[in-house]
Amino acid sequence: MLRTTVTFSDPQIEMAHGAGGKATRRLVDTLLAPLLLGIEDRPLGDAAFLDLGRQQIAMTADTFVVRPLTFAGGSIGTLAVHGTVNDLAVSAAVPKALLVTFVLEAGLPGRVLEAEVRAMAEAARNAGVLIVGGDTKVVEHGKADGMYVTTAGVGVADPRAQLSSAAVRAGDRILLSGHIGDHGITVLLARGQLTLDAELRSDTRSVWPLVDRLLDAAGAGVRWMRDPTRGGVATALKELALDTGLGVALEEERIPVRDEVRGVCEILGLDPLHIANEGQFMAVLAPEYAEPALAALRAMPGGEAAAIIGEVRQSPAGGVMASSSYGTSRVVDMLVGDPLPRIC
Ligand code: MG
Repeated sequence: MLRTTVTFSDPQIEMAHGAGGKATRRLVDTLLAPLLLGIEDRPLGDAAFLDLGRQQIAMTADTFVVRPLTFAGGSIGTLAVHGTVNDLAVSAAVPKALLVTFVLEAGLPGRVLEAEVRAMAEAARNAGVLIVGGDTKVVEHGKADGMYVTTAGVGVADPRAQLSSAAVRAGDRILLSGHIGDHGITVLLARGQLTLDAELRSDTRSVWPLVDRLLDAAGAGVRWMRDPTRGGVATALKELALDTGLGVALEEERIPVRDEVRGVCEILGLDPLHIANEGQFMAVLAPEYAEPALAALRAMPGGEAAAIIGEVRQSPAGGVMASSSYGTSRVVDMLVGDPLPRIC
């Protein structure tokens, strides 16, 4: 049944509506989902599933407006492939194919475009997905910051896992694949507006090889997955708490954060839990699967820093708490506002 109760009342779109935090959720929940999807209630996943007879396929799409176009460890082209591949991967869908749409600004140097197209072709090859089509539009000089890229992805539901936030239980463990904050802080530093220097690289990569291994080792115990992109780990876990009505308890020291990321965050008053990642994922696991899952990931290249960072509890219902070994604890909330615009 299509219901169209629209309660979105923000007078205009602000940068925060694109930050992946509270304002984005309000935009999706109170305007986009009711009118376009005909639903007013969560949860919404990173991909939509369609039943096509014998097979279930997953579809997702993402647009990339990162500024600058290139940064240590990646570029808009690699992000555009990995971002969509990862939304399929964390939906437990095997990534298969991409459509690529470019919005190009008149005046964009041909060599810049060629470099990005090459980067996309290579990233897709490495991720095992085919680029099967797309579209190109050009807008006037000054209207698009060089280029924007949209990728739409198709995957096939992986039978090894049945993800559902409704299956999440108190006592389940929360696994994180590796260091957080590298991407957001790397892009911030690439803008050169800060007199800060750090040896950091974006973590942009396909997480499918790690997810694939996880599903082999612990597929039946995986209840939920998410890639903590915009809004970071905090926003993804707060959404988990809201969607399940359960609580999330984090152990702050177990969350892998590089010293460089922690340092920049301290200087700028940012929380690493709010910083975007482009090559990490989180999984909620039934407790008996946590150790085998962790061992399997840590044995994989790129999974060495994986950690169990906390667990699901009955309370605080709909909330996330982080505790430290000093005995202190703090409330972790979704990202509010947009401290780091256009990082993906
Ligand atoms: Mg995602």
